[in-house]
Amino acid sequence: MSSKMLSLLLRAEFAPRPGYQLSEAELRTHKVREGNKVWRNPRLELVEKPIPRIQRGDEVLIRVKAVGICGSDLHFVETDEEGYMIYPGLTRLPVVIGHEFAGVVEDVGREVRYVKPGDLVTSEEMLWCGVCDSCRRGFVNHCVRLNDPSDLEYGELGFTHDGAMAEYVLVRERYIWKINSIREQVGSDEKALEAGSLVEPTSVSYHAIFNRAGGFKPGAYVAVWGAGPIGLAAIALSKAAGASKVIAFEVSPVRRELAKNIGADYVFDPYELQQKGVEPWEKIVEVTGGEGADMHVEAAGAPHYTVPQMLKSLAIGAKIVQIGRAPKEVSMYLEVLQVKRAQVFGSQGHSGWGTFKHVIRLMAAGAIDMTKIVTSRYPLEKALEAFERGHKRVDGKITLKP
Ligand SMILES: [Zn+2]
Ligand SMILES: [Zn+2]
Repeated sequence: MSSKMLSLLLRAEFAPRPGYQLSEAELRTHKVREGNKVWRNPRLELVEKPIPRIQRGDEVLIRVKAVGICGSDLHFVETDEEGYMIYPGLTRLPVVIGHEFAGVVEDVGREVRYVKPGDLVTSEEMLWCGVCDSCRRGFVNHCVRLNDPSDLEYGELGFTHDGAMAEYVLVRERYIWKINSIREQVGSDEKALEAGSLVEPTSVSYHAIFNRAGGFKPGAYVAVWGAGPIGLAAIALSKAAGASKVIAFEVSPVRRELAKNIGADYVFDPYELQQKGVEPWEKIVEVTGGEGADMHVEAAGAPHYTVPQMLKSLAIGAKIVQIGRAPKEVSMYLEVLQVKRAQVFGSQGHSGWGTFKHVIRLMAAGAIDMTKIVTSRYPLEKALEAFERGHKRVDGKITLKP
């Protein structure tokens, strides 16, 4: 094993926007809560870096085999008029990006028990502490130390800590999940590793629908707004969980096709409907025989548009779950929630609750096949080309193969 590896590094200037107040800790550590207020002129570079070395007993060195490009990764290098990155969240640069990945265990620290070299694994992206008040209440997706700018031990893999768009990545045992069982189902390492790289985004949808919103009964009607990777996972999971009709709305033709392939019973283009003078909510009412959808999943990141549509197509007892992220306010007529006995749930993250385990089991059982959403594959050396394509938003998922 040579001592250097190829990796994709994200750099930017630390240039807090005039008038934006950073805390003393953010100024000192550059672990900032709102990336879009601080990082200017972001750029990606393929660089040689030393292969990370195991330093603590619970660390695992993973040879990365598949890593997906996430919307957040694209938002790192997309900028506003003033040259600031669009990504609005926790970041500490420079950093090797990449957080949706799978690989093979190369080496383990002396205390590691859960995995051994040769195991196929994936990892959570949220580096939660397990000790803070939120973690002890079971809310690891809301870990206080993860979000604390003065705490450099915890954070997010590929955002504040070197991630997986590299030949190797170092992760603590507590965040790792074995995916050997997927290999048994799909028959090849390559397909299992690709599926494994999709466990993280799929878990975001799983957490939202089943943990946060408490799921739905088999036979339910589910509406999924937006069919990017998160919406597509919501569609596949809803079918696997016994939804009798899944109704999806998506503007991109490629993604509409994927929505069908992954299990949606009805797929509509909101623009096309608009041209015909039909609103999306009317389609839901029509398809559900006037009853409305029992679960609405917001995965479009456009709640100002989707939520008013949802409010007009709620079944009695319906749930709305908000996954898509958008810095937009939404006005809601709460009377509707009362009359329909409806609830709204906000969801963030993918960790905890055994979510990764359940998603892996669904993949290993063949109940969901998320590899259908991968529409482009690139070797890591061509990562910059892959990002060029990513910015065009013509794919389901682009996967890099280090
Ligand atoms: Zn992601
Ligand atoms: Zn914590």
